[in-house]
Amino acid sequence: MRGRCTSPPRSPGPTKELTLNADPAVQLRLLDVQAVDQRLDQLAHRRKTLPEAAELETLAAEHSRLRDAEVVAGTVVADLEREQKRADTEVEQVRARKDRDQKRLDAGQVSSAKELESLQSEIASLNRRQGVLEDAEIEIMERLEEAQNQAAALAADRDSVAKKAQEVQAARDAAWAQIDEDAASGRAERETLVAGIPADLLALYEKIRADRGGIGAAALRQRRCEGCMMQLDAAELVRIRGLAPDVVVRHDECRRILVRTPESGL
Ligand SMILES: [Zn+2]
Repeated sequence: MRGRCTSPPRSPGPTKELTLNADPAVQLRLLDVQAVDQRLDQLAHRRKTLPEAAELETLAAEHSRLRDAEVVAGTVVADLEREQKRADTEVEQVRARKDRDQKRLDAGQVSSAKELESLQSEIASLNRRQGVLEDAEIEIMERLEEAQNQAAALAADRDSVAKKAQEVQAARDAAWAQIDEDAASGRAERETLVAGIPADLLALYEKIRADRGGIGAAALRQRRCEGCMMQLDAAELVRIRGLAPDVVVRHDECRRILVRTPESGL
């Protein structure tokens, strides 16, 4: 806790705070720094909110959804293939047994009427059984074909999503590269601009900029602060008119550095 006796006396009003002085040309240069900083902020924002990046995320989610669906579809296909094989074996077994019976019948090996009747009845029953099994197998095959088609469609969809993602990624990377290049040139420009600005003025600018949505210095044009877009009132205009050109002015309303320009309307 700061004691009352050790803290500096509080200024009664914003206009009484410590004033900085800087050559008017230097103050104007601060506006150039502000313009570059805004451009850099916009580039950083664009980099973060690039539509290609958002689209790529959507595509990645879609790709992963399709891959999961493909795994499920693949399992269904494998199950049905097994089921079909089993059904096929069952049909084959019935057919083989029926053929054997038929051969016995055709060869005239069966002499007793009772045995003949039993054999014929078995053949009839095997025929019915074969019909049922074949119907079931056809149904399995239809389901298998459908599942295979679905798996193939999912694979094709995933391929096209992957292809699209590649294109979007290339576009995003190109956009990022362009942004990074622009930002690098902006930073270089800024370095040149700030070289001639006194450290205390730059520090004040940076502090206000951080507090005030990225704008620390604004031009006074047509009696308006271009930082907050407010018209200055008559009293403030009188106050500013009375200040030496090298005094660093701050807008009473938004506290930004207000840089006088030939179009200030003072
Ligand atoms: Zn303002």
